[in-house]
Amino acid sequence: HIENEYALYMDGVSVSFDGFKAINNLSLYIKPGEMRAIIGPNGAGKTTMMDIITGKTRPDTGKVLFKNDTDLTKYDEAEVANIGVGRKFQKPSVIESLSVFENIELALKGKRSIWQSLFHALSDQDHQRIQEILELIALQDQQDALAANLSHGQKQWLEIGMLISQEPEVLLIDEPAAGMTDEETMKTAELFKRLAKKHSLVVVEHDMDFIKALDCKVTVLHEGRVLAEGSLETVQANQEVIEVYLGR
Ligand code: ADP
Repeated sequence: HIENEYALYMDGVSVSFDGFKAINNLSLYIKPGEMRAIIGPNGAGKTTMMDIITGKTRPDTGKVLFKNDTDLTKYDEAEVANIGVGRKFQKPSVIESLSVFENIELALKGKRSIWQSLFHALSDQDHQRIQEILELIALQDQQDALAANLSHGQKQWLEIGMLISQEPEVLLIDEPAAGMTDEETMKTAELFKRLAKKHSLVVVEHDMDFIKALDCKVTVLHEGRVLAEGSLETVQANQEVIEVYLGR
């Protein structure tokens, strides 16, 4: 693997908690604009892997490089976010008392205080950017609605829009389809395909219909390492993967 071909280059990473190897010589190479699904049974190390990439957990060994040479293991969570790695947790954290538009506006203005942001006139450029994001997340028609009144799926899309406003190169997304209706799940797959043109997406998910709709390369984690990698069909036919999921 040549490091500079990747948006995210994770190589030979290990971490132990009290002598237990939660991540064991894990490598993951994500290209610019690539979408990757991560699956694996509970305890496989999916969350720990995301924690390592985002600077929440420091690995004992191994490399985590962003683009050519930024060593992410030297930075904390806020710094990693600023460098260009966005993380979406399972629970949406939109501000319910604000409108859809205002939520994106706040995220776009980021570091300014909430009051400054709300009462400061928006530039034409900001306005245009917000409209682009609303279109991308298919919430143009709900832009004046209070976030509190959105469905669970719409709140998830709004939060993704808020993350996108920061223009992250890489987006890590934890179980986006959880709690969504079938229709929302399929719309989310379409949204991710639109996003993957501009961003690299790493999606941790259990819902196989959703992963099928994403139509991307799948990495199966087990005991902190890569058990199998390839198309969904390939990994589902892998004997070791079948044993891990069905038990011996
Ligand atoms: P997954 O997200 O795939 O369910 P996790 O990354 O949460 O898996 O956990 C991987 C393993 O590491 C589990 O056995 C878990 O109990 C352990 N683990 C994770 N974080 C910690 C921690 N901070 N301290 C001790 N053990 C941990």
